Amino acid sequence: MPNKPKCPSCHSAMTPQRLASVAGGEVELDLCFACRGIWFDPLENLKLTPAALVTLFRLLHDHRNDAVSPLAHRLTCPRCRKPLGQGFDVVKSGRYITYRCTQRHGRFSTFASFMIEKGFVRQLSGQEIDDMARRVGVINCSSCGAPVDLRKDHACPHCRSALSLLDPQAVEQALKGYAVAVQQTGQLSIPDLADALVMVERDRVKAEREAKAQRGSLFTTAEGQSRADLWAAGVALVWQILN
Ligand SMILES: [Zn+2]
Ligand SMILES: [Zn+2]
Ligand SMILES: [Zn+2]
Repeated sequence: MPNKPKCPSCHSAMTPQRLASVAGGEVELDLCFACRGIWFDPLENLKLTPAALVTLFRLLHDHRNDAVSPLAHRLTCPRCRKPLGQGFDVVKSGRYITYRCTQRHGRFSTFASFMIEKGFVRQLSGQEIDDMARRVGVINCSSCGAPVDLRKDHACPHCRSALSLLDPQAVEQALKGYAVAVQQTGQLSIPDLADALVMVERDRVKAEREAKAQRGSLFTTAEGQSRADLWAAGVALVWQILN
C-alpha cells in the first residue's frame, strides 16, 4: 500500500494512526487536524475496538483547539489526484457528506461525518438550537465548516447537514466492556450545551493567547473571528466520560 497520503483538502502530510479493528489486526488511518478529516483506504471502513476508540477520542481531544481551515471546494484523491466525488449517505443518526475517489482509491470523511456514520451523534433539539442562538449566535457547521446563523437556520445552508453533537451516551454505550469508560455509569453530569460551547470557546481563546505569547505576540490575525464550535464542545463532553 502506498504510504503518506497528502490531505485531500489542504495537501499537507496527514498524521498516520494505527488502530485495532474488531476483525483482528490493525488498520492505519490518516488524519488531518486542520481540516478535521480522515482518509480511508479501501476496506478501512472498519469497526474499531473500544480501546481503539478511546485512542481516537484522546487524539481528537488533544487536537480540539488546533487551528481549523474550511474544506476546499474541490477535494482531490491523495492517490490519483483526481477530484473526489461528493455524495450523501443517510443513517439513523443523520445525514452526512461523503467524498469518494471515483477510481476506488478510498474516501475522505470529516470527523463529524465519521461520528454520524458510527451513530455517535444525536441531532440537536429545537430548544437547544434556540438556546444556542441566544447565547452564541453563529456556529461553524461541523461537516463542512460553513458558518450557520442559528437565528435564521436550523441546518447548514451550505451542505444541509442537520446540527448534530457528539453524544456522550452513545459513545459510552459503544465503550461498554471497556473498563475505564464505564465506572461512572448513571452518574454522568453533562453540562448544558450552551455552557459547554462557551467553556470550549474560552479554552480555545486561552490556548491561542498562550501560543501567541510563545511566538512573541506580534501576530494578531484570526482573533475575533472565533466562532462557537460544536465539534470541540462534543469532544470535550465525551472526554468527561473517558476520564
Ligand atoms: Zn488538511
Ligand atoms: Zn484516486
Ligand atoms: Zn455544512
